[in-house]
Amino acid sequence: MVQDVVVPDKLKMPVAGRDYPRTWDQFIDWFPDDEACWRYLEGIRWKYGFVCPGCGEAGVAFHGSRGRWICRHCRHQSTVTAGTVFDKTRTPLRSWLAAVWYIVNQKQGVTALGLQRVLGFGSYQTAWAMLHRLRRAMIRPGRERLHGLVEVDESFVGRSPPNSTLDIKKKQKVTKKLKEQRSIVMVAVEIKEPKGFGRIRLQRVTNKSEKAVLPFVLDAVEPGSAVRTDGSAAYRTLEKYGYQREKTVMLGAEDRAHVIMPGVHRVAALLKRWLLGTHQGAVQPKQLDYYLDEFTFRFNRRTSRSRGLLFYRMLEQALVTEPVTYAQITRKEKHNI
Ligand SMILES: [Zn+2]
Repeated sequence: MVQDVVVPDKLKMPVAGRDYPRTWDQFIDWFPDDEACWRYLEGIRWKYGFVCPGCGEAGVAFHGSRGRWICRHCRHQSTVTAGTVFDKTRTPLRSWLAAVWYIVNQKQGVTALGLQRVLGFGSYQTAWAMLHRLRRAMIRPGRERLHGLVEVDESFVGRSPPNSTLDIKKKQKVTKKLKEQRSIVMVAVEIKEPKGFGRIRLQRVTNKSEKAVLPFVLDAVEPGSAVRTDGSAAYRTLEKYGYQREKTVMLGAEDRAHVIMPGVHRVAALLKRWLLGTHQGAVQPKQLDYYLDEFTFRFNRRTSRSRGLLFYRMLEQALVTEPVTYAQITRKEKHNI
């Protein structure tokens, strides 16, 4: 006999007004101080109860002050933020939560300056570092790969060539330089039948060789899926890895791309517009990775009507994302070219 499985409330889909605030007014109500924020994050991270990171014992810790949990078994002290994006932060948790609320409510994306203004931070660096840490949390580790029919292609991201007021020689020089500064971004898009797009994955690569392109496909697309690519030899071994390759053939000019790869074409266009609109096109190649993550996070949740649910999901991800120091962020910025 089949018995109904009873799913406890807390394992079900998060509910507005119970698991996340419905509105900004409710946000203010729920999070009057840091103590309330600690408890809220604990409810998200330890849905099944507290497990001691020191000895692995569950349910034997008691609550100390300032969000501290002390294990009765090994005396290990821990907090909900330890080992997460919020680790050792000096910024009040309430500001973190407000930042996440602000980010998920700005469809066009957020700049550090915008965040600084909204939260009233004295320092631009604080807002900038906060934003970078939260961006890291936007891509869930171990996320499910794309499947079904997936279009894969490269796109170029960079500034547009200068307008025609420059003399030809100068224009050629500038255009050449801009071309060198462009980044190659791999785009993978799920294609839905009869129409529409599913989820996407984006990644910056250094070149279009098989060595650069193949790891992206393996990481982004579930084997068994049909992968639609152009005729490039970089994709020739896809079948060996369990994919069905659908090779498209370009018949003429490049502007036919939207016919052959409508998904990639559309996503690349939206990405470029978003970068241009939000960041005035001022994204350096080395910072692009974070922006690609933010764009992917937003695109893949574009149908989510509830901004509050995005708030909940982003916090959930932040609590399983490893901490990163300010020095690491700036170092990564310098070397990750
Ligand atoms: Zn312990």
